[in-house]
Amino acid sequence: MDVSHLLDSLNDAQREAVASPPGACLVLAGAGSGKTRVLTHRIAWLIQTEGLSPYSILAVTFTNKAAAEMRGRIEQLLALPIRGMWVGTFHGIAHRLLRAHYQEAALDQNFQILDADDQLRLVKRVMASLDIDEKKWPVRQAVGFINGQKNEGHRPAHIEDYGDFYLKTHLEIYRAYEAACQRASMVDFAELLLRAHELWLGNPAILKHYQNRFGALLVDEFQDTNTIQYAWLRVLAGDKNNLMAVGDDDQSIYGWRGAKIENIRRFTDDFPQARTIKLEQNYRSTSSILKAASGVISQNVDRLGKELWTELGDGDPIQLYAAYDEMDEAKYITERIRQWVNEGNLYAEAAILYRSNAQSRVLEEALLYAQMPYRVYGGQRFFERAEIRNLLAYMRLVSQRDADAAFERVVNTPSRGVGDRSLDAIRHLARATDISLWQAAHRIVDEKQLPGRAVNAIHAFIELIDALDKETQGAPLPKLVDTLAEGSGLRAQHEKEGGERAQTRLENMQELVTAAGSFNPREDYTFSEPSDGQPSVSLLDEFLNHAALEAGEGQGDPEEDCVQMMTMHSAKGLEFPLVFLAGMEDGLFPHSMSMEAPGRLEEERRLCYVGITRAMRQLYLIYAESRRINGKERFNRPSRFISEIPKDLINEIRVKQTFVRPANQMRSTFAQGEVAGTNLKLGQRVTHARFGEGVILNSEGEGSNARVQVNFPDAGSKWLMVELAKLDPIA
Ligand code: ATP
Ligand code: MG
Repeated sequence: MDVSHLLDSLNDAQREAVASPPGACLVLAGAGSGKTRVLTHRIAWLIQTEGLSPYSILAVTFTNKAAAEMRGRIEQLLALPIRGMWVGTFHGIAHRLLRAHYQEAALDQNFQILDADDQLRLVKRVMASLDIDEKKWPVRQAVGFINGQKNEGHRPAHIEDYGDFYLKTHLEIYRAYEAACQRASMVDFAELLLRAHELWLGNPAILKHYQNRFGALLVDEFQDTNTIQYAWLRVLAGDKNNLMAVGDDDQSIYGWRGAKIENIRRFTDDFPQARTIKLEQNYRSTSSILKAASGVISQNVDRLGKELWTELGDGDPIQLYAAYDEMDEAKYITERIRQWVNEGNLYAEAAILYRSNAQSRVLEEALLYAQMPYRVYGGQRFFERAEIRNLLAYMRLVSQRDADAAFERVVNTPSRGVGDRSLDAIRHLARATDISLWQAAHRIVDEKQLPGRAVNAIHAFIELIDALDKETQGAPLPKLVDTLAEGSGLRAQHEKEGGERAQTRLENMQELVTAAGSFNPREDYTFSEPSDGQPSVSLLDEFLNHAALEAGEGQGDPEEDCVQMMTMHSAKGLEFPLVFLAGMEDGLFPHSMSMEAPGRLEEERRLCYVGITRAMRQLYLIYAESRRINGKERFNRPSRFISEIPKDLINEIRVKQTFVRPANQMRSTFAQGEVAGTNLKLGQRVTHARFGEGVILNSEGEGSNARVQVNFPDAGSKWLMVELAKLDPIA
């Protein structure tokens, strides 16, 4: 059979990988060097020249989108449909296995999958039944513990608590949760993987069957596999060692979810015969983009080390825009996209990437205003997020007590002892007498229709809403939102949870405060300065309507030609001719949570490398001189990652004379306001005995309570008590 067309479109190293003899093979290469291309060509090669049946191929990747794409590319290469081939995500494949072998996996035939929210609710119920106080033991922390253990392959029986109270309590929850799942035959995401692994270990006959069946295993984005995924693959590979893994250590961005870069090293230990192939030619990006990416990633230590080059020529320089604020940033991006489309290109070729979901709101509004179709991938649109809907529900209730949906949503969120039975009684009464839930709740309290504790809990909710209403009478809209975030207990709830997700939720809630501050229904969306929001309930109602409309509209179909928006995490593996990295500011990216831990900073830097290398032809970096995000006005300095890009690659766009400052000059000053009751001011340079010279970026409190955030070039960013830190101002 003539297979030359398969190899013709490959370079030597790619060809070597695609046509390598059976056995373990590791393709380790930088972004855009054709790893995914090698994987798909390898599959086509195995089928056409090695005579493997599609049925005997298993290919794993990380997202459904990538899996669909891979399938499409293989079908195109082979020019025939590939029924019977297993191409999917780890979770999808594990699910398929468990369905096929539910008995051996000790599951019911119709076992259910718990999504993240279902899991959270179940853990919550389990904790209640164990009388474990959620206030002391945040539910999300318990969920994090359970998933973390499962990712490592640990059942409760494998874990020793060493008398440690923290471990002991979490183990107790894990055990009870596991029993509850087993009783009802429910499986969470991490369980899918763990149980699929146990299926191998506990059933040699089944394992043998699949080992015989699969003549070839292939895995993309290998750097992001966690312990249990790797173990599962390794056991399945068995003696045949027919595993091809492709990946890039510089793109490992899921350490916080248990991914192990070490799996790359482990691979060569576990499969000593493995060939390692490096690909060095990049086909995706211009040379300027590649050099920028390499400048950034070279700051990380302990890399496996790879070189990338391209024949595509320098192309345009990296464009750097210093926006006046986040609105200006959004406006600039939409203008650039408009120009791009006017030049005859597609919306879908443009991608806006950002670090945090909370950034999407302003960008979405700008795109709506500019009437450009867009789609947000992976992650919900701002106004649809659970924490935002909770807070909006409080706002709605304060404005309108009879809003039943809002009542249902938050009467027990955060939990305040209004149980399912109470809620049922309220619903029942409301239906029977044709009144609202709020009125029914009132009546139940007045007539003491439920046991004392239940009545007290409902009463407390009614009083809370009334009190919040009173407290926020006449308050400007952002103040109202802020008061409700606090008074409802939602903020405290997320603060207690801790961890990355809770942090995101808090940021999003603060972002709603910001949104309220810049909301002005009487003008169109005009990128004007925030209005100071005249206090009125009708303004609140208008804002709520605005939120409801925003939640449902403006999102293009996947098929439609629309601007692509996503976090940098979701952009892994993808490529776009025109890429904007928005919010290139220290504190936002790298994220403030990661600036102090060296390991986390390196992971952020890898994320930046992923972001930059998504760009094919044009890359824009944008930072804002000031940014209202998460309810606060910030004067962040440009991201340190910008300064890691060689200066000669960057073209600074200077549209405004007044506000532009050189981005690479990291010690530029800000001169914005005094730190009250001290001799310091924002933007001031100071020295610290241990950390050396730095610049004050932010402050909180005043006088003897004042804290300042100082950015030290070597030590990173630190919050310090002014009274204790002995900072010496430098003139
Ligand atoms: P990432 O690390 O971002 O996942 P990757 O290494 O998987 O990147 P691919 O997506 O496979 O890279 O390839 C990047 C681009 O380069 C794709 O558009 C691909 O079609 C193209 N490409 C790869 N190899 C070649 C080649 N030999 N000839 C022409 N184009 C190629
Ligand atoms: Mg790829």
